Amino acid sequence: MLVAGNWKMNLDLPAARQLTANVVTSIGKTVHTKVAICPPFVDLDATFNLLHGSEIRLGAQNMHELDSGAYTGEISAAMLKSVGCHYVILGHSERREYFGETNELIARKAQQAQKYRLIPIVCVGEMLAQRDGDRQNAVVEEQVRQSLQGISIASGSELVLAYEPVWAIGTGRTASPDQVEEMHTHIRSLLIELFGQKMGYAIDILYGGSVKSSNASELFARSNVDGGLIGGAALNAEDFASIVKSAESAAAA
Ligand code: PEP
Repeated sequence: MLVAGNWKMNLDLPAARQLTANVVTSIGKTVHTKVAICPPFVDLDATFNLLHGSEIRLGAQNMHELDSGAYTGEISAAMLKSVGCHYVILGHSERREYFGETNELIARKAQQAQKYRLIPIVCVGEMLAQRDGDRQNAVVEEQVRQSLQGISIASGSELVLAYEPVWAIGTGRTASPDQVEEMHTHIRSLLIELFGQKMGYAIDILYGGSVKSSNASELFARSNVDGGLIGGAALNAEDFASIVKSAESAAAA
């Protein structure tokens, strides 16, 4: 199980420090669950220092696909490594929608992340109109295949997928456990096809989209749901800790 908090464009430095300290205290030690927080770039260095001594890992929310150079405003994989990042979220639907990120670009970013030994959390998910048109499986399949072009892994722990139906992100509307399990099973079969049986099963597939302490248990109980990518609820330490607890219970069951 992996539970990762995506803080998005929230929290200045003092607030990020405070939330990190609260998250460390609230979560304590986990046995079956890896935990990560993904603060804004400017908060990474300080939050990494506060995570010292805890097993909570640090992640970034995006990065550039090239090593370095004249790309004003961008952040490289090496920079993320240098401030202690372990994960990087790539292809979040907000990046796809508001910043024009394509599957092809996301694949280049994922390759770059791997080159620097950052674990990419590659996000996929259909829009509401695509689900209403019953096209979700085809849309997500294309995103998975194209966003993972050129990726090869030596173990399932080198890659994470996150299924985030766009209509469920930040809307309070969660996909039903059946809808989630159906899509995760589809993604699992694609991962097995792309990376073989052993690694395909070992890759964590997270669900994201209005996960809260009240619905996390029923989502994490499904066999192909290996944790969650948490937006809004990750901004409150107690809520986030409660979601981590649900992951721990699901893994122990
Ligand atoms: C997200 O943006 O990754 C997300 C899942 O957000 P929320 O939990 O707020 O829906």
